[in-house]
Amino acid sequence: MATKGVNAFAMAQAQFDKVAAVLDLDEPTRELLRWPMREYSFAIPVKMDDGTTKVFRGFRVQHNDARGPAKGGNRFHPHETIDTVRALATWMTWKCAVVDIPLGGGKGGVICDPHNLSLREQEGICRGWVRQLARNVGPLQDVPAPDVMTNAQHMLWMLDEYEAIHGGHYPGFITGKPVGMGGSLGRKEATGFGVIYTVREALKRLNIDPKTTTASVQGFGNVAQFAIRLYQSLGGTVTCCSSWDHADQASYSFRKKDGIDIEELTGITDRFGGIDKAKAKELGYEVLPGDAWIEQPVDILIPAALENQVRGDNVEKIHAKVRMIAEGANGPTTPEADEVIQKRGIYLIPDFLANAGGVTCSYFEQVQSNTNFFWPKDEVLTKLDNAMTVAYEAVADLAEKRKLYMRDAAYVISINRVAQACRDRGWV
Ligand code: NAD
Repeated sequence: MATKGVNAFAMAQAQFDKVAAVLDLDEPTRELLRWPMREYSFAIPVKMDDGTTKVFRGFRVQHNDARGPAKGGNRFHPHETIDTVRALATWMTWKCAVVDIPLGGGKGGVICDPHNLSLREQEGICRGWVRQLARNVGPLQDVPAPDVMTNAQHMLWMLDEYEAIHGGHYPGFITGKPVGMGGSLGRKEATGFGVIYTVREALKRLNIDPKTTTASVQGFGNVAQFAIRLYQSLGGTVTCCSSWDHADQASYSFRKKDGIDIEELTGITDRFGGIDKAKAKELGYEVLPGDAWIEQPVDILIPAALENQVRGDNVEKIHAKVRMIAEGANGPTTPEADEVIQKRGIYLIPDFLANAGGVTCSYFEQVQSNTNFFWPKDEVLTKLDNAMTVAYEAVADLAEKRKLYMRDAAYVISINRVAQACRDRGWV
């Protein structure tokens, strides 16, 4: 999704180049890691409900699989682009490496708008996507998952098609499956909770009691909702969140200064994470322009909607009170905005660390699926908390020791791990 003219892949490469220079990486390793190893772009013809046939464009990018099979979500979005998918696949490589799970980086997408598609048509897209790639993805090659505007049902259709083609049960082919059909308990909470596990540890390090803090969140989808739930259970107050309004083709922020009520708001939110404006007003929320979430006088900002949301043109709107930014979304901050955040000394928990809870739990799902033995929810969440805490501590320690910006410290750890795997395999 190209938003506001910033190319996400150029951004991913710029972040990589900055750290590759610090690490003094050799040229072949740089060349290998700044581009995806494999890319697929293909047509998906689907018979529509009105009898016509529509051809959708699908993508899958496998950035690097030196540490294990590629792993990453499949998104449905009308503005999906190959460059966004490349960027997200690249970030997946770093994400799996920073939490030290034995997986590489992949990402996929289809240019489509599920708002305007029946479930039967969406099933056609899912099955068509798998038919095009059935030999290039799989438990030992590349493992997809849900992402923006895709969910457990889409994953199950994809799995069913894959199993029909290969003639067997391959539950480790895909993650984010429904619980009871190979899904893991805790997966729906995993990304949002993971963000807050890192926030909790960061607050501890900064000697701040979560109960005294306030936060503003961009988005109100899967990541945002579970992040808000766990943050509130630590005693924090969320004063503002935002969402995309499909009818108006615009975003809005929803503010309640004494704290939003998560149950109340989820009750008036559609399955795409869009909050009903009229009902929110009736419940006493101020409905503000889309960008208002960034200007709030809070301690913590959690962008949890899309990439390219904190940019040169709005970064100065971040209130002087803000002490921490935890990136729930992938690539929410452009390099231009990143410089300002670094200069202002705002404590940043970078995306591929903060939101790594999702892929970590997907990895747990794969392990459970492959062994056909499923763990109780508290066991999944305890393992997740441990993995996120260990990863956060390693990044924060390195940042302190080497006086690095948190994003750069996370990159140093990830790039080193992936480069080492490439060297150990004799690729470079
Ligand atoms: P989602 O589709 O469930 O929710 C997205 C939310 O963002 C919705 O509330 C939507 O209304 C809102 N939104 C969209 N455009 C907006 C805009 N311009 N302004 C304000 N709000 C807007 O998606 P999600 O799964 O919660 O993912 C959110 C982000 O987190 C994405 O960047 C995704 O790639 C990333 N992520 C998700 C997971 C996961 O497990 N779901 C894991 C890692 C990273």
